[in-house]
Amino acid sequence: MDSPTSALLCYHARMETTRYRDTRGLDATRPAFTDAVVKGIAHGGGLYVPEQLPVLTLEEILTLAELPYWQRAATIFEYFGVDLAGARIAELMRVAYGDNFDDARIAPIEEVIAGMHVLELWHGPTSAFKDMALQCMPVFFSEAIALKQERGELTDDYLVLVATSGDTGKAALEGFADRDHTRIVVFYPAGGVSDIQRKQMVTQHGENVSAFGVRGNFDDCQNAVKAAFNDEAFNAQLHETHSLKLSSANSINWGRLLPQIAYYVSAYADMVTSGGVVAGAEMDVCVPTGNFGNILGAYYAKKMGVPIGKLLCASNENNVLADFIATGTYDISSRAFVTTPSPSMDILISSNLERLLFELAGAEHVREWMTSLADKGRFQVDRETFGVLRELFIGDWVSNDESLGVISRVYDETGYLMDPHTAVAWEVAERLRDANPVLVVSTAHWAKFGADVYRALSGLLYSDPLPVETVDLTGVQLLSKVQELAENACIPRTLSELDDVAERFTGIVDAGRDGVENAVRTWLGR
Ligand SMILES: *Cc1c(COP(=O)(O)O)cnc(C)c1O
Repeated sequence: MDSPTSALLCYHARMETTRYRDTRGLDATRPAFTDAVVKGIAHGGGLYVPEQLPVLTLEEILTLAELPYWQRAATIFEYFGVDLAGARIAELMRVAYGDNFDDARIAPIEEVIAGMHVLELWHGPTSAFKDMALQCMPVFFSEAIALKQERGELTDDYLVLVATSGDTGKAALEGFADRDHTRIVVFYPAGGVSDIQRKQMVTQHGENVSAFGVRGNFDDCQNAVKAAFNDEAFNAQLHETHSLKLSSANSINWGRLLPQIAYYVSAYADMVTSGGVVAGAEMDVCVPTGNFGNILGAYYAKKMGVPIGKLLCASNENNVLADFIATGTYDISSRAFVTTPSPSMDILISSNLERLLFELAGAEHVREWMTSLADKGRFQVDRETFGVLRELFIGDWVSNDESLGVISRVYDETGYLMDPHTAVAWEVAERLRDANPVLVVSTAHWAKFGADVYRALSGLLYSDPLPVETVDLTGVQLLSKVQELAENACIPRTLSELDDVAERFTGIVDAGRDGVENAVRTWLGR
């Protein structure tokens, strides 16, 4: 390795191991990073958070710009006291962020209009932001299992079960494919995902992966998978017959959060290099938000010393977070779930918010508020916490039709084509921006949401049916129709080739616990 790099790695190798505590103060185990990743959720239902955060100097942040992305991420992990040797972290990051991304910069930034910079988090293999965490976390998960087995603390490998409404399933399949000591099975609602989403999942490569359609909707998938997790006889059988333990690897796993802190630190360094922000001056960040994991990464980066001003939290018509930030009351007691063109932000319970509440108010309050949320469907934070929340965050939301309008307006004005999630953030950033430059976080390539992008560019509303001449097209063919309307728009090769790749997983199973368990048993016994 050449000199600046090895100096950096040596320096950080002296970092002490960081221990994790949980947001509800109920888990006394104080695991290090690798154990927290394998365990996923803390004893007592809380989420793991680091006991202390590293604080970076401006110089340390700016130096990152000289490194390739994998070394930037490795450096952040070392600052965080991850319990692996520095050289090993670097090797694993090379796997996580290499030519599996279609841009060598991994998370490039594009200044679309003066002062509005788009951070593109969709250059990974599934063309969406989940790859930033799911190309990384399984590599460390696999390493952690190997270490535990070596130390004699574990004999089993892990089987990851995922219920998906579409995009997370593919990102998880791609992340776990051929990772040692792991297998993964994904359950999606048959008929409830787009043609492209289904093809992305059923064509997945890898010896340790599978995907099944479920006769039912997303809730049916989720309930069946949860029931399988809670079925002791099933767990015992997996252990005895296949030496496997179950894991969910979901978005509350700290192993998915930490990579999301890295790209905010990295983005600030890039912004200074490109002249988008003066070194030491603030940039604001605007994030299309669902489960609050992405924007939480920005919050932690700010706490670590990255000059981030306001955290702009952008919601769609499922605007529970915008209301919470405006009022201090989180209330889903009489809230209906709305479908939108930005489905990855369609949430009622935003699970990573619990980590923010812990940082602002501590475990005792979190316990009280989470109990209230479970019992009454609402909680209200105290005045002091609300004050701090308002200092840090501004929330706003964008309607379905407005978000499609933004796609066509920004395309007409700038030639930049964005997906409906990014459009929500763009609109909120335009409404709320002040003198600071804004980093608008882009979470999906437009081609993942081709039908609504087509509606947007054709001047249709979200509720309008697609024109008759397009209804018989495959998802990929529809993307070519979008290109007729936006000629400079490219389609990632992994998507454009989907109609021609052989489908490996054609199984459809009944909803319910037995359907899921039998699918898993049959697949394991194949
Ligand atoms: C998951 C996702 C989001 C929401 O991110 P959170 O971390 O859950 O807030 C936004 N956009 C896209 C495209 C996503 O896949």
